[in-house]
Amino acid sequence: MRVFSYQKAATPAEAAAAALHTPGARFIAGGTNLLDLMKLEIETPTHLIDVNGLALDKVETTADGGLRIGALVRNTALAAHATVRRDYGVLSRALLAGASAQLRNKATTAGNLLQRTRCPYFYDTNQACNKRVPGSGCSAIGGFSRPLAILGGSDTCIATHPSDMAVAMRVLDAGIDTVRADGAVRTIPIADFYRLPGTTPQLETLLQPGELITSVTLPPPVGGTHVYRKVRDRASYAFALVSVAAIILPDGTGRLALGGVAPQPWRVAGAEQAMPAGAAAVNERLLAGAKPTADNAYKLILAQRTVAAVLRETPVMKG
Ligand SMILES: Cc1cc2nc3c(=O)[nH]c(=O)nc-3n(C[C@H](O)[C@H](O)[C@H](O)COP(=O)(O)OP(=O)(O)OC[C@H]3O[C@@H](n4cnc5c(N)ncnc54)[C@H](O)[C@@H]3O)c2cc1C
Ligand code: SF4
Repeated sequence: MRVFSYQKAATPAEAAAAALHTPGARFIAGGTNLLDLMKLEIETPTHLIDVNGLALDKVETTADGGLRIGALVRNTALAAHATVRRDYGVLSRALLAGASAQLRNKATTAGNLLQRTRCPYFYDTNQACNKRVPGSGCSAIGGFSRPLAILGGSDTCIATHPSDMAVAMRVLDAGIDTVRADGAVRTIPIADFYRLPGTTPQLETLLQPGELITSVTLPPPVGGTHVYRKVRDRASYAFALVSVAAIILPDGTGRLALGGVAPQPWRVAGAEQAMPAGAAAVNERLLAGAKPTADNAYKLILAQRTVAAVLRETPVMKG
């Protein structure tokens, strides 16, 4: 690990300003992803801005009956929160499907959204990787691509986003609240937050340099049956090969997103409109345009079967 300086920020705006004005600075929250990347010298920050002292660790009801989740709320606390368990069950279930209990105790809401891909070549500095070193090539295309994307990839990168929580946040229509160095605040809909790789896979979100996530806001609850089903190589402590987050209303309508198959949680409006017609109709629209490799073509079938299983779990028994 290389030498770096360290500061503990006192306010969100101070943290954002320090990040913007210090070249090579990074925020550190739980550190469960960032420190691993620093040990491998994939991330080499010159300066760490510790955000843990900021008062961003509350879960509060908003004026319109939604929920504001502070950026520093730990994954364990969020999964166990009574309102989340009652009204946003898909989020609680997704969180509990992620990582291990020890990691969830440290991992934060913002850190989870911003964790980096688990593409094996991204973590191996001996291998070409456009996301790590822009323009160096992609070892996964034509290489080992079993865990990687079948949707939303490009000729430069087929990495998946690894977060379970983000998939649940996507069906809940979360907004990402931020502050910038000049104190300006904004909310980015999660539907827009993650960029597809295109020709710039190193740019993963819409965040600007120095921009700090302060909270994530959920709209008022929509009711329905909340499901999160994750398929992985081991029963725990493994990232999703395919996951499905769904909210299904008593009349068979609802919302549905896939994890583990794309660089962002994958939600398609037309697929949701087809939910009352059953799994075949949903899958046709949800997986339209999929470009699997020979290594990960199994994900197409796995996704179809997982969607069907989720729809069968619900009171309307479609699929
Ligand atoms: C062995 C292992 C297994 C795992 N399994 C899973 C799994 O199955 N599912 C899953 O979803 N996750 C899994 N994870 C990932 C884990 O959930 C993430 O590491 C964690 O959520 C990151 O949160 P953190 O607070 O530790 O982030 P950090 O490591 O502190 O930060 C991550 C990134 O977010 C940035 N950041 C942090 N806070 C802010 C902020 N407020 N504003 C702007 N930028 C910020 C940091 O600068 C950094 O770039 C696993 C991790 C490990 C090590
Ligand atoms: S898929 Fe993306 S992250 Fe993986 S090696 Fe290729 S460019 Fe890097």
